[in-house]
Amino acid sequence: MIAAQLLAYYFTELKDDQVKKIDKYLYAMRLSDETLLDIMARFRREMKNGLSRDFNPTATIKMLPTFVRSIPDGSEKGDFIALDLGGSYFRILRVKVSHEKKQTVQMETEIYNTPEDIMHGTGARLFDHVAECLGDFMEKQQIKDKKLPVGFTFSFPCRQSKLDEGILITWTKRYKASGVEGADVVKLLNKAIKKRGDYDADIMAVVNDTVGTMMTCGFDDQRCEVGLIIGTGTNACYMEEMRHIDLVEGDEGRMCINTEWGAFGDDGSLEDIRTEFDREIDRGSLNPGKQLSKEGLNKAKEILTRLGVEPSHEDCIAVHHVCTIVSFRSANLVACTLGAILNQLRDNKGVPRLRTTVGVDGSLYKMHPQYARRLHKTTRRLVPDSDVRFLLSESGSGKGAAMVTAVAYRLAEQHRLIAETLAEFKLTHEQLLQVKKRMRMEMEAGMKKKTHDSAKVKMLPTFVRSTPDGTENGDFLALDLGGTNFRVLLVKIRSGKRRTVEMHNKIYAIPVEVMLGTGEELFDHIVACISDFLDYMGIKGARLPLGFTFSFPCKQTSLDAGILLNWTKGFKATDCEGEDVVYLLREGIKRREEFDLDVVAVVNDTVGTMMTCAYEDPNCEIGLIVGTGSNACYMEEMRNIEMVEGDQGRMCVNMEWGAFGDNGCLDDIRTIYDKAVDDYSLNAGKQRYEKMISGMYLGEIVRNILIDFTKRGFLFRGQISETLKTRSIFETKFLSQIESDRLALLQVRAILQQLGLNSTCDDSIIVKTVCGAVSRRAAQLCGAGMAAVVDKIRENRGLEHLEITVGVDGTLYKLHPHFSKIMHQTVKDLAPKCDVTFLLSEDGSGKGAALITAVGCRLRDAEQN
Ligand code: ADP
Ligand code: MG
Repeated sequence: MIAAQLLAYYFTELKDDQVKKIDKYLYAMRLSDETLLDIMARFRREMKNGLSRDFNPTATIKMLPTFVRSIPDGSEKGDFIALDLGGSYFRILRVKVSHEKKQTVQMETEIYNTPEDIMHGTGARLFDHVAECLGDFMEKQQIKDKKLPVGFTFSFPCRQSKLDEGILITWTKRYKASGVEGADVVKLLNKAIKKRGDYDADIMAVVNDTVGTMMTCGFDDQRCEVGLIIGTGTNACYMEEMRHIDLVEGDEGRMCINTEWGAFGDDGSLEDIRTEFDREIDRGSLNPGKQLSKEGLNKAKEILTRLGVEPSHEDCIAVHHVCTIVSFRSANLVACTLGAILNQLRDNKGVPRLRTTVGVDGSLYKMHPQYARRLHKTTRRLVPDSDVRFLLSESGSGKGAAMVTAVAYRLAEQHRLIAETLAEFKLTHEQLLQVKKRMRMEMEAGMKKKTHDSAKVKMLPTFVRSTPDGTENGDFLALDLGGTNFRVLLVKIRSGKRRTVEMHNKIYAIPVEVMLGTGEELFDHIVACISDFLDYMGIKGARLPLGFTFSFPCKQTSLDAGILLNWTKGFKATDCEGEDVVYLLREGIKRREEFDLDVVAVVNDTVGTMMTCAYEDPNCEIGLIVGTGSNACYMEEMRNIEMVEGDQGRMCVNMEWGAFGDNGCLDDIRTIYDKAVDDYSLNAGKQRYEKMISGMYLGEIVRNILIDFTKRGFLFRGQISETLKTRSIFETKFLSQIESDRLALLQVRAILQQLGLNSTCDDSIIVKTVCGAVSRRAAQLCGAGMAAVVDKIRENRGLEHLEITVGVDGTLYKLHPHFSKIMHQTVKDLAPKCDVTFLLSEDGSGKGAALITAVGCRLRDAEQN
């Protein structure tokens, strides 16, 4: 139209000075690269404004969230209807996406006439018309009895708060039906359909034609994340990071933004590049002041045929000249705004070079002989650090709407199934109370003579009868076996006014073949490490008292005798189960014939943890470990411990609560994933509670869920990688990383990438959700167990209210971003009469063992005197 005006001027007033005048105008239409870069920067600023909560109301480009969160992944299928209103034609399509071997799309289209008087009449009449056409289409397709999902391509600026809603902001192009602006077009259409009553439709999505184009191309090219229309009007959409979209809740993943960029310049910001002809067009349009730059793209090519003049050779050159300049300007302007989007995408991804695909539709782009080439060239010049592929959208927005509907349909179905699966990990308050109650029952059973042998929660007496009183003094050795590392320590405890504990330690590896070898090999290795340590510290001749932190279930008959009941975690050395580990250690020392030690105590790490914290806080009478494994101990009344003579005072009981559930009492909350992890562990059927809680297993549970989800097509495009098949590859530390609140989704992807898992944004969201569900359940189960313990102590003491401290150790507890908080809350919810403080233990296994040894020495000396 701009060209038409120019030419009309040209042919009617072809005088020398006029030609000069035209040339002047034409000159104004040539935009330098400097100007283009400037426009690109301006548009980028406008994009930012449109996305921001504060500036959106006044921004010219509305940056409308579309609630389309992902592009097709190739697994869509089904039978869909698409309505396409707002382009040159009103079309209705039936799109069948099937999945036999290859994904195929079958489409049938019908074009309906929309008379001018309907476009400019009442909204009710317009939607009656749409409903009537849809009825006719369904009649022809013989699907009037079906309720197929419908995607509605409605190519006007709409506000959406969900996918199946579109509140028309303002009509554009040739439409101007009354009573529609400000209304939800889905509601209007549904109303019109209901009024007829001869068929039913399930409108699942309102889609802008740009989004339709992006989705159509996204179906063929996964990289497509921009949709561009250069036809009757111009507009574009792209996938923006949720964290940049202020107007929509949530920071995860991406969402397609309909820029409505046609309005760029409506605030006068393009005045400097507009010409008199642009202004004239604007005045004569239906929506003066709106959609400025769009008309600049309008039907430049039509002019030559519509003119109906017999052009001379010079005329032809002139016409060609004018058209070229007008359309080149159009292409240049689109390149600017597209360039701004590409820059945004590149910055979002944080990559030096952007590789992406732009899906394009619109007859100006398709039909104009040089338009596309010009656009591509300028875009690449303006955004040099990018590899952009332009992909023509086949069959346009209709198919895209069906794709959006298909994706929505697939995602809705997938979300339902994922939620259904993860719901098994969501424990209700009642279920948690049940867990607490059962734990309490198992505790009682473990301490009763009659039931102890068959009990699973063994409630092992530790012969630790009191927490430290501050008089402990001396130099002690400690061994720490049973965690990730084996350590030897020298602990110097000084009593008196200024109590101090000084520690020296050395870490030694225990090779897997030793962990799984013979008992003799294991203890020879341990003694060799001690020997090295004594040399290292220069204390080989000293015969120091030693505390042996041995973090496996041991039946103790005294402080310095502990019979290993069964290995747990990663250990499985032969000839140890059923033996006294202190004896095995002493034999090892004898075999070496190099030094002597005074083994005073065998210590569970929970007890060491409790003692360490009790040294600081006398209220600490519980020890808890949430590391590789999980376990707890607490001070129980002697009268309740039937396995040990005497009713006076208290003794610390090593609960060995990891075995809770081994009699099947937790089977109602165990999932198939827990069973799978259990089945493939070193100790199948054992430590079932621990396997739902601790670090050695959480990652494995997650991995098993991910495999299942992948098999069911929810993840990784259904491809199970070799990595995912590798046991233990998904370490629990990854849960901590992935669940960190400070982490953007992109970083989650990077973590998964490190694991060799090629994930999309959607994959990352699902993985994060899975991790959250697993760790949350772990923390709640652990809290339920702890609630049983604190309430028992409270009842033991006949208290209405108990204040108590729990000493805690373990990397999972310490490093997971949410575990401790959820656990604390659960204890609060399930044991409201207890006021529980959690105290982090500093090296419980070392310091605690020394403290117990010191207490043991003191008691032994007292006995001997
Ligand atoms: P242990 O229990 O073996 O004595 P830790 O308390 O250090 O030793 O626990 C080690 C376990 O903690 C590892 O097996 C691993 O599962 C888990 N873990 C390691 N790093 C992290 C982390 N960043 N977040 C959560 N768990 C972790
Ligand atoms: Mg430990």
